Amino acid sequence: MRTVVVQTEQQEAAKPIPVVAGAGISRTYGSGDTAVHALRDVSVEVMSGKLTAVMGPSGSGKSTLMHIFAGLDKPTEGDVWISGTALGELNDTQLTKLRREHIGFIFQFFNLLPMLSAKENIVLPLSIAGEKAEPAWLEQLTTTVGLQDRLSHRPSELSGGQQQRVAIARALVSKPTVMFADEPTGNLDSRTGAEILALLRESVDGYGQTTVMVTHDPHAAAIADRILFLADGQIVKDVGPSTTHEILAALEEVAAS
Ligand code: ADP
Ligand code: MG
Repeated sequence: MRTVVVQTEQQEAAKPIPVVAGAGISRTYGSGDTAVHALRDVSVEVMSGKLTAVMGPSGSGKSTLMHIFAGLDKPTEGDVWISGTALGELNDTQLTKLRREHIGFIFQFFNLLPMLSAKENIVLPLSIAGEKAEPAWLEQLTTTVGLQDRLSHRPSELSGGQQQRVAIARALVSKPTVMFADEPTGNLDSRTGAEILALLRESVDGYGQTTVMVTHDPHAAAIADRILFLADGQIVKDVGPSTTHEILAALEEVAAS
């Protein structure tokens, strides 16, 4: 009898905590007749070490969801947990600390600081916190993203693909619990985009980097372990690895519903 109880407790303890959990998330902009319901009662969990893609028509709430998950915006209702910590219960200082330690973010338009070199941009999250990058990790990271000989260049001296590599390295330098990417290839030509995607996939497979990526590109979503489809502020479909063909069919289905 006792053995059974112990086993149950062990199973409870072993139950993995989601890296990201959202419960009943709504986000409304404005109020009254002109209110926009960007997210409507979204609940979802993301487990460790996976690449999740988020797809859906323009205006369906993808960016809003990424920003709320990453603590860059607050839900009107509901809450987000990062590794079990409820963001809604944190004050601004605590939230900033949690974001610094747990969250990486990659934007469509790179968002690098123009007056800093590539290397200074990469280590910026650590510099702000008064920390230094582990030299071996920084070396490995810059090699992985292929920037060893570009580290002293400013963003204006780099191509779009190189700038996004800097942004990826910056997001990974603090080994975040989860990395969010909002259309990371949206501003790149298809070949460069494919290289960036390969890099993201590599960080999932090589470092176990949990990643959530918004994309409108079925080829990009085809490298994901899971695909969430948003429509009109709700998750309307949640599928495992899919082919480009299956993703196109799902997008049509979502658009028609
Ligand atoms: P997506 O990234 O899927 O294109 P967004 O999350 O950016 O969609 O936007 C979802 C909805 O919320 C859209 O209708 C958009 O116009 C609206 N929205 C987004 N940000 C704001 C804002 N700051 N003020 C008002 N409406 C907004
Ligand atoms: Mg968007």
